[in-house]
Amino acid sequence: MINVFQPSLGKEELSAVEEVFDSNWIGRGPKTDQFEKSFAQFLRVEHNHIKSISCCTEGLFQSMKLIDIQPGDEVILPSISFVGAANAILDAKGVIVFADVDPHTLNLTLEEIKRCMTPKTKAVCLLHYGGVPCEMDDILEFCHANDILLIEDNACSPVSQYKGRACGTLGDIGLWSFDAMKILVTGDGGMVYCKDPQLAEQLGRGIYLGLLSKSGYLNPQDNRWWAFDIDQPGRRAIMNDISSAIGLVQLKKLPGFIERRKKIHEMYDAMLQDIEEVTLPPSCGQGHESSYYFYRIRLNTTQLRDQLAFSLKASGVYVTFRYYPLHLVPFFDCKAELCPNATYAAQHDLCLPIHQSLSDSEVERVAQVMKQAICDLGVAI
Ligand SMILES: *Cc1c(COP(=O)(O)O)cnc(C)c1O
Repeated sequence: MINVFQPSLGKEELSAVEEVFDSNWIGRGPKTDQFEKSFAQFLRVEHNHIKSISCCTEGLFQSMKLIDIQPGDEVILPSISFVGAANAILDAKGVIVFADVDPHTLNLTLEEIKRCMTPKTKAVCLLHYGGVPCEMDDILEFCHANDILLIEDNACSPVSQYKGRACGTLGDIGLWSFDAMKILVTGDGGMVYCKDPQLAEQLGRGIYLGLLSKSGYLNPQDNRWWAFDIDQPGRRAIMNDISSAIGLVQLKKLPGFIERRKKIHEMYDAMLQDIEEVTLPPSCGQGHESSYYFYRIRLNTTQLRDQLAFSLKASGVYVTFRYYPLHLVPFFDCKAELCPNATYAAQHDLCLPIHQSLSDSEVERVAQVMKQAICDLGVAI
């Protein structure tokens, strides 16, 4: 089976984990501190804006608390979003306002934010689809002018850049995921950026039991080092030194991962460009950088898309569509006609396998199977 996503882990990660085992400190400790520092450096921001977290979904839930979502506050969310973002808004008793997406990039646009805005709009939670940055200048300016907070779900865009700045560090809060399906993986884990370092501090307490002081041996000044105080009923949602040690190795490998993904992107482009029924994914605008997380094609009919998906799967090529539009999920109880572009994408688009471990011959095989399937189906439909 050719997987649609796949982690790349090896001997270096194993020996980093072995080192942590040998240290007898597997909980949050020096490796986690180092991972946060290195990640901040990688994003070119100060360390005090960054906190590691157990997963990105937890970060989304925490974000609603950090920006103080109150019952009835509206949060604009593109329909093509990760379900955890919608869950986080509802959990905070906020109201989700589903926005449509750009038909080509599947990103949120300023026009949609304007259409969805009401006096109750408190925040926008966007994602950079597949790692291609949203048009941020317009969005940032508008949000700033209208006192709307901006959360960037940057789960899949670890290296994406908008005009030379790291995506995820442009708005008020940014979030990264290191789960098993992402580019940089640690098993589970994530990072949060807060524009306001005080918010990052508050988050640090919110994900570590609400503790105000360091406990145990990290607090050598206190002559009663077992004493503590808390300022809120905090949760426990931290990373540990085992996953952080893996993260440190993965961070070093990240540029190489991206280079390979970019190459695969180019290979697909070259091999699929002549197929009449296929629209290739949009490239990243000038001056920006993608993380090449998805390779999403568009077929000219739903029937062809569905049959192609089955044919590929039957030939051992796993394909998918991300993210199934949330306005179509009955639980969210939304009017479908408001997001025609998201609906169209869900009916016509397909994400092909793309991960850094794919060999040239596997990429060629995917393209070959696709061409053959389209050819066969062309006769059949
Ligand atoms: C994977 C993903 C998340 C959730 O990340 P976890 O670390 O698994 O909680 C959030 N947003 C997007 C866009 C994702 O792809």
